[in-house]
Amino acid sequence: MDQLICGKCGSAFPLCDPRWRCDCGYLLDVEFAPVFALDKIAERKPTMWRYREAIPISDDANVVTLDEGYTPLLRVSFDGVPVWMKQDHLFPTGSYKDRGASVLMSKAKELGIQRVVEDSSGNAGCAVAAYSAVAGIECAIYVPEHTAAAKLAQIRRYGATLNLVPGERQDTALAALEAAQGTYYASHSWNPFFLHGTKTFAFEVCEQLGWRSPDTVILPVGNGTLLLGAYLGFTELMGAGIVSSVPKLIAVQAEACAPLAAAFRGKLDSLPEIPARDTLAEGIAITSPIRGGQILRAVRDSGGHFVSVSEGEIKASLTQMCRKGFYIEPTSAAATAGVSKYVRRLQSDEVIVSVLTGHGLKATEKMLAI
Ligand SMILES: *Cc1c(COP(=O)(O)O)cnc(C)c1O
Ligand SMILES: [Zn+2]
Repeated sequence: MDQLICGKCGSAFPLCDPRWRCDCGYLLDVEFAPVFALDKIAERKPTMWRYREAIPISDDANVVTLDEGYTPLLRVSFDGVPVWMKQDHLFPTGSYKDRGASVLMSKAKELGIQRVVEDSSGNAGCAVAAYSAVAGIECAIYVPEHTAAAKLAQIRRYGATLNLVPGERQDTALAALEAAQGTYYASHSWNPFFLHGTKTFAFEVCEQLGWRSPDTVILPVGNGTLLLGAYLGFTELMGAGIVSSVPKLIAVQAEACAPLAAAFRGKLDSLPEIPARDTLAEGIAITSPIRGGQILRAVRDSGGHFVSVSEGEIKASLTQMCRKGFYIEPTSAAATAGVSKYVRRLQSDEVIVSVLTGHGLKATEKMLAI
């Protein structure tokens, strides 16, 4: 049955309930039976909505879209090893967050929501603001006060109310939680519909490889919205018998902020308390990811592991990618640095997929400073 389900106390709620967490305070997930009509999919426009029957939105009239997705999958050489790079920096707002925002705001429209709140280190705020504009829904975005100016301008231009919060990323999350008490929390980390958008990453990758799973997928991880979505997508395709395996997930964190990598390495049950240190990879600098337990489980169950990259490695990889013609934001370069590190230790032939998550034009000040 289609429903929202709590991973802690097991409470279930109908999908038409406009809630983003359980009464017990824990996270919700969407239980939903996806359908993959391969012949229909092949005939549709090249957007992420070609997998329409696998996305939990009831009525087509509620789909909030800019024809996003089905981004190119390009073969790029990393020290002579070919890696399929998904060009998710080419989304309408300049990051893969549009996958999640398109489905999340479609759900908000379906629920008849008039106003949403979201907090972000930048890109999720841009995406939710843009799709709120498309949906005609009022939107308030909370960001840390030191967020990149280009992202602030973008959020404002979409017509969202922008709230700059002093302090660290965590303070911004608390301010948004407070504001969300009286409205709908369109949170990319809390709201489970976001993951039913990011899962289309996996659908596209498998279709572009001829409906086959790659062996290995290397992804950047902060809150894990891409990693958890990808894991969900590959799992759904396997459940439907369309692919025969779920790829090994390699999760990349910046050494300066790597609570998940530390927990994985130390086989810890909970995330260690770590200080928020500055990193070039601002988009994944999350000290306490709320879906941390799910991320650790997904990486472990897939047979994967974590890779941490230093500031020097991120900077070097950014330079290397730009010299190849890919203008990506520094956060994306954490993932490509992880790819370089992974392929250096490679023992066998593997079909490897990774991603360019965000566009370099969003980080001009940082690019100038580097
Ligand atoms: C959001 C984001 C990520 C990582 O996403 P998480 O959900 O925090 O794991 C990576 N790169 C860019 C450019 C992003 O905006
Ligand atoms: Zn509960």
